[in-house]
Amino acid sequence: MIDTKYRCEICGEESEHPVRWIVIHCSDAQLTVFKWTKVAADAPHARHYCGEAHAQVYISRWFESFCG
Ligand SMILES: [Zn+2]
Repeated sequence: MIDTKYRCEICGEESEHPVRWIVIHCSDAQLTVFKWTKVAADAPHARHYCGEAHAQVYISRWFESFCG
């Protein structure tokens, strides 16, 4: 079995066993925020963030691209 390593998209922090990380699934039209679960984290196109602050960085960028 291969351990999956997850990486925060904002700061690059890596963890094999993230705790209190955030998962985001999004498209051009919809953004969904998940508390960390393996199912959500392993979904295709899932994005991973080490905490609320870094999830918010991405959400802000998403809104800017959406509105701009
Ligand atoms: Zn981070």
